[in-house]
Amino acid sequence: MIRERAYPVEPWHVRETRLDMDVLAQSESVFALSNGHVGLRGNLDEGEPHGLPGTYLNSFYELRPLPYAEAGFGFPESGQTIVNVTNGKLIRLLVDDEPLDVRYGELLAHERVLDLRAGTLHRELHWRSPAGREVKVRSTRLVSFTQRAVAAINYEVEAVDGPLRLILQSELVANEALPPQSRDPRVAAVLESPLQAEEELTTADGGLLIHRTKVSGLRVAAAMEHEVYAPARKTIQSEGYEDWVRTTIGCVLQPGETLRVVKYLAYGWSSRRSLPAMRDQVEAALTGARLDGWDGLRREQREYLEEFWEAADVVVEGDPEIQQAVRFGMFHVLQAGSRAERRPIAAKGLTGPGYDGHAFWDTEMFVLPVLTYTHPAAVRDALHWRHGTLAAAHERARTLNLEGAAFPWRTIEGPESSGYWPAGTAAFHIAAGIADALRRYVQVTQDTELEREIGLELLVETARLWRSLGHHDRHGQFHIDGVTGPDEYTAVKNDNIYTNLMAQRNLIAAADAVTRYRDEAFHLGVTNEEAAAWRDAAAAMHVPYDEEIDVHEQVEGFTRLQEWDFAQTPPEKYPLLLHYPYFDLYRKQVVKQADLVLAMHWRGDAFTPEQKLRNFLYYERRTVRDSSLSACTQAVLAAEVGHPELAHIYLREAALMDLHDLNENTRDGVHMASLAGAWIALVAGFGGLRDHDGNLSFAPRLSSRLERLEFSLQWRGMRLRVDVRPHETTYALRRGDPGDVLELRHHGEPVRVTCGEPVTMPIPPAEVSGPAPEQAPGRAPLLRLPENEP
Ligand code: BGC
Repeated sequence: MIRERAYPVEPWHVRETRLDMDVLAQSESVFALSNGHVGLRGNLDEGEPHGLPGTYLNSFYELRPLPYAEAGFGFPESGQTIVNVTNGKLIRLLVDDEPLDVRYGELLAHERVLDLRAGTLHRELHWRSPAGREVKVRSTRLVSFTQRAVAAINYEVEAVDGPLRLILQSELVANEALPPQSRDPRVAAVLESPLQAEEELTTADGGLLIHRTKVSGLRVAAAMEHEVYAPARKTIQSEGYEDWVRTTIGCVLQPGETLRVVKYLAYGWSSRRSLPAMRDQVEAALTGARLDGWDGLRREQREYLEEFWEAADVVVEGDPEIQQAVRFGMFHVLQAGSRAERRPIAAKGLTGPGYDGHAFWDTEMFVLPVLTYTHPAAVRDALHWRHGTLAAAHERARTLNLEGAAFPWRTIEGPESSGYWPAGTAAFHIAAGIADALRRYVQVTQDTELEREIGLELLVETARLWRSLGHHDRHGQFHIDGVTGPDEYTAVKNDNIYTNLMAQRNLIAAADAVTRYRDEAFHLGVTNEEAAAWRDAAAAMHVPYDEEIDVHEQVEGFTRLQEWDFAQTPPEKYPLLLHYPYFDLYRKQVVKQADLVLAMHWRGDAFTPEQKLRNFLYYERRTVRDSSLSACTQAVLAAEVGHPELAHIYLREAALMDLHDLNENTRDGVHMASLAGAWIALVAGFGGLRDHDGNLSFAPRLSSRLERLEFSLQWRGMRLRVDVRPHETTYALRRGDPGDVLELRHHGEPVRVTCGEPVTMPIPPAEVSGPAPEQAPGRAPLLRLPENEP
């Protein structure tokens, strides 16, 4: 955990004012740049020291065997693992005859700044070599949002004293050595030299490398070119070998003079394109980059982000740390999704190798809801990606003797890559998450073309899965047995409420869609009987309830399981999954992450306010938050059931997950769901946004620390701005046609907002909310409310 505040609080920057070697790997994730296609970890330009070198291309993976001591039918035999591809970030510097290495000599100043409006990582350092020579280095890096294959670095060295002989070696390096693998199942498999050389080519000012993975057979090309601005005579030459290409620039600087080098990088990969085609592809991308030049790339980057923030920014007054964190989170969410273009948005985006680079339900249930309201084009692409994996999901369903589509718990390209089925394949709820993301996207954008083209099929195939997975009992009740819900400490149980309620909505959405697209449904083989069976199953869905203690059962029988012995569980035994056998976790009342509480968020329409409060108190006492996907949901429900201060604390936990490295694994990549969760906690928690029935409703109410919360939502071509103050909320249409009307509910009351006429509504006083929630003993929230109380 980064206990000291590592980054000063600033609204639009994440700044590191000194280099802390102990948290180098964490900062590489925090400072990672990506556009959803290319991802560069925030490694130092000179490559060393590093925590974890990383350069990733979305969906560029290697296959590795998933060995089992005791195999079973239907176990996936190979898994996909993201590959650290050719590193193009490297710029080494020789100052007179000493390599610039921050571990030697004296680091007189070192600062890095992630600029959330410029979309750049800027670094400044002042270094005195062991021989006493001084240089100042300024480098600025970007991964272009507008040219998706392109990254660029502007690197400047100033001689402080002199004359100085500088040799700059700019490289492309494949098959970098990676630190050894840990035993934590959440980190990635380490592949030794996964890339086989196919071609290397050099020109005077750059070069390229083409490699191929051994098993998956994917081809990657990386190319670089340099522009050199030197005040005096310079030399430049390039050379290349199988796994590296190097451009060497030499010059002598007088004190105060600066050598400036712009390095353009281009990446491409393909499973089909030939070697010459790949070569041409990256060279063309380099030409595109040089056409714009460094200044042009920077300008485009800023303009792209200006547009994004215009639509997506969240203003928080009263907790400046949260102001910074929510923007940081949104920036990473955008980076993960903006140019993913029919490729997955992984749990870590492209910021690190954690979870092998896999995408989970995190995408549809945490990241896409945020992007749907702020940057829906990325959601359209992400839904296309899922649709593109249907063939694998069909095949998986057939293997499992099921109908429809069984989407993988974790994957890069579509096939199931989880080797642990109780918390993998059995987590069928991912299907309902996909259906819900689709439903929300269509509801918000009215993109009926997408609904017709791919949406209907996704709904139909997921509905078929539910119908074949569940069954009606002799009383007609519909059950979904033997599945795992979001809480991975409760597995392979009957009637997980979250799964059942989400499946219920999925089944109804599919039956409704069939009535809208009769011809297309006919082509998918849907009969009236089949759609009626979906409605029957939905109507008869079982929702287990413990009448005796008046709470819902997360799964059938949950409330009668043995309690977990929290008193005997010392703090160092968390996360429990690394210290206790699953069989013990499975048979006790201990909850890894919001599950029933998550159901109360996304299917809040299925619970009364009294039930929500009672359930919240009950599950709060048993939830250990061993997953970063929990705090944001607990924030949403804490706010809803009248505990805004607790909501605020959980908001902080979700939002500061990576800036404070709360789970101590930010080194493997940022927690995309938790970062998206900061927005969810603010907008659905303190803004009270719900969209259950295809309509927008809000129930804003701030915590005592917050003075203001303002956010914008896209809604059917309009842009709604919601400005929440302690006692009132103003709804305004910022973009739309003069005749546009947006109907919403504010604390249950209907409100009509028209263009140019903002509506201000009072916030009704909070009702008394019962006893204060208690957490599981020893599992109090990780952070406190902000200091300097109002
Ligand atoms: C959580 C899952 C999540 C996965 C990837 C696990 O620890 O329990 O819900 O999908 O991490 O973020």
